Amino acid sequence: MNANDIISDLEDIVDCKKIRTGESLNALNPGMTEKNLDAGIVVSPETVAEVAKVVKFCKARGIQIIPQGGRTGISGAAESSPGQLIIQSSALDQIINLDFVAGTAIVESGVTLQQLQDAIEPYGFGVGIDLAARGTATIGGMVSTNAGGTEAFRYGVTRHRVLGLEAVLADGEIFSDMKEVTKANEGYDIKQLLIGAEGTLGIITKVVLNLVPLDKNRFTALLSCENAVSAAAVFQSLRNDSRATLLCAEIMWPDYANTTARALGMENLLDFAHSEKDVFVIIDISCAENKAGVDVLEEVLSELLSRESITSALIAQNQREATDFWKIREESFLCDKAYPHGFWYDMSVPLSHLDDYTTALYETIASIDSELKVFLFGHLGDGNLHLTVTSGIEAPQLESQINAAVYEGLNDIGGSFSAEHGIGNQKRDSLQKYTNSQKMKIMKSVKNILDPQGIMNPGKIFQPEEGPEFMAALR
Ligand SMILES: Cc1cc2nc3c(=O)[nH]c(=O)nc-3n(C[C@H](O)[C@H](O)[C@H](O)COP(=O)(O)OP(=O)(O)OC[C@H]3O[C@@H](n4cnc5c(N)ncnc54)[C@H](O)[C@@H]3O)c2cc1C
Repeated sequence: MNANDIISDLEDIVDCKKIRTGESLNALNPGMTEKNLDAGIVVSPETVAEVAKVVKFCKARGIQIIPQGGRTGISGAAESSPGQLIIQSSALDQIINLDFVAGTAIVESGVTLQQLQDAIEPYGFGVGIDLAARGTATIGGMVSTNAGGTEAFRYGVTRHRVLGLEAVLADGEIFSDMKEVTKANEGYDIKQLLIGAEGTLGIITKVVLNLVPLDKNRFTALLSCENAVSAAAVFQSLRNDSRATLLCAEIMWPDYANTTARALGMENLLDFAHSEKDVFVIIDISCAENKAGVDVLEEVLSELLSRESITSALIAQNQREATDFWKIREESFLCDKAYPHGFWYDMSVPLSHLDDYTTALYETIASIDSELKVFLFGHLGDGNLHLTVTSGIEAPQLESQINAAVYEGLNDIGGSFSAEHGIGNQKRDSLQKYTNSQKMKIMKSVKNILDPQGIMNPGKIFQPEEGPEFMAALR
């Protein structure tokens, strides 16, 4: 079925203004990859009933559906192809209810993280998940990818913030479990299957979130540490320090920090480090209203210096300086711009193994090719590392060796090859390789039960050819 046939049939069930194709589609931002919009047709329903109608329409015709939110996902999970239909959540953009007694928010899935943050911050609440793509990433996308971000060591990942959820399943039926309470043991928790499913089991339309207290009196510092052992020890020390609350702790190895700072024209900022081999840690803390945060930070950091846990430190004196510090951490794509064609990774390592793991990683990658650059940074508190390995030119012949250097042994130390960005279509092979076969079997059974035709985001998480019965029957 071509796009024109889909459009004329779709116009019978949704207002044509909600369908974008041709020029109106070209006006859309494709997000992380041009391939996101390759289907050539996007429909943006305004209600759950409309989503259900569109899904039923697709089911009847065997049209494959690609759910999309803000298209900021990093693992290719929102990519589409001609013949498929993109159902985007952009018109499901209502904040339905904010309950500041219960500390909950009910939102439609197309609400962006920033939109929700702006609505709740004046009332002293936060979302408990924060990430640099906050202006564009949607709550539905964050639930579907089980997004992590900078606050995960305090509040968990997105699945830990979700109390209730509504979704349209692959058969067009509406699944609703809109609980507003933390405790609800009512048999299998089916909504948890949809969280992190990357749009392969249904389209999320509404979410109930458990909010957290807003972080106030934020103070930022950039620290240098001799190695990752010290960085992990500093993290635990700050976490347990009753004088201040540790809000964020992000780690950057020197190649990453220097390359990003240089691209930002801020290389001098990192001159405070004691040695060029030092790793950098950016922290945010808060402390009680009546205490001068900078004084507390100075006191805490002086103690860490005298114990030689850190080699040096720089305290942001104002918001502009704090923003500059954070830019080095958040503008991570500048490394990819300076050294393109990299292999991208997102893994989790228990903090007690952080130094052994990263030291071995650097050595193994250097032994593969001494020209390879390693850009490493991440969320220190939960051991989530982001990594780009590149020589600046395309080198597909090195991929399997680099994959092995990054992934082998992670399961043995209790880590994960896929921390927070999901599987999409980029990590399907690794999922197959590094996941227990029993778990894969159960996952495929779940997919078959909830999406027997295989129309929901095919080719993501699973190889297209190992998909559900319907796809198997087509071969
Ligand atoms: C600068 C930058 C920083 C980032 N930092 C982080 C970070 O710190 N932590 C982190 O975890 N991620 C991070 N990300 C990745 C990204 O922001 C998250 O994965 C985010 O959750 C994606 O949301 P989205 O609305 O853009 O989803 P999309 O990219 O549109 O979609 C992502 C996946 O979710 C599915 N999906 C989207 N909406 C729905 C829906 N309503 N129902 C069902 N499925 C749906 C799609 O099919 C796809 O599989 C970052 C990205 C960028 C660009």
